[in-house]
Amino acid sequence: MGTDMSNERILVVEDERDLREVLSYNLSREGFQVSVASTGSDGLQRARSQKPDMILLDLMLPDVDGLEICRLVRQDPQISRTPIIMLTAKGEETDVVVGLGVGADDYMPKPFSVKELVARVKAVLRRGAHETDEPDRRPVRRDVLEIDPSRHEVLVDGEPARFTATEFRLLHFLAARPGRVYERDTLLRRVLGDDAIRVERNIDVHIRAIRKKLGEHRDLIETVRGVGYKFRDSAAAPR
Ligand code: CA
Repeated sequence: MGTDMSNERILVVEDERDLREVLSYNLSREGFQVSVASTGSDGLQRARSQKPDMILLDLMLPDVDGLEICRLVRQDPQISRTPIIMLTAKGEETDVVVGLGVGADDYMPKPFSVKELVARVKAVLRRGAHETDEPDRRPVRRDVLEIDPSRHEVLVDGEPARFTATEFRLLHFLAARPGRVYERDTLLRRVLGDDAIRVERNIDVHIRAIRKKLGEHRDLIETVRGVGYKFRDSAAAPR
């Protein structure tokens, strides 16, 4: 506990105040950045503005219910891949099935132990972004970089640069999420997946290779001492 410096951000949408506070406290203690909402509309608004790494979503909410929120999240290209765990009350099994049908990644029937929930959260995060029919092939333009996954093409200052498949995925992943810090282990999981060979891979080697290819723009990938790496947030650090 308390050692996971993942910095991953979790949005908790739950109208029961006590449960909201318990979740917020315990997830923060695990190293997550937690944001809370007590209504569906506030939750949706926060999901859209904060783009969290995961949403814990209560099914029964006073205004817009969890299923509708889930549906709306999945329809919004900006946040459609956000993993969602539904929090359901006893006897809502039918809704649970529907919930997974509208794109929830998992569900937790109440009452649950916080320990169990934290384990579930970590497991879903480990699985990576919500699998949609469409993999993350969105082109990214950031600073001097243009990254186009559908063509496996990177332009640095308008000049094509060659990256290996792994370097390409890593660069695309980071550039699509500027300013967000990722631990090495998280990057390995999110970028390379859970394949057996990943243990032999060293993220630092890939980062070094990427920086070399970025040349004078090598500083776009920043090292966060003791934590991991992030893509420079140009809004936060004007050039
Ligand atoms: Ca509720």
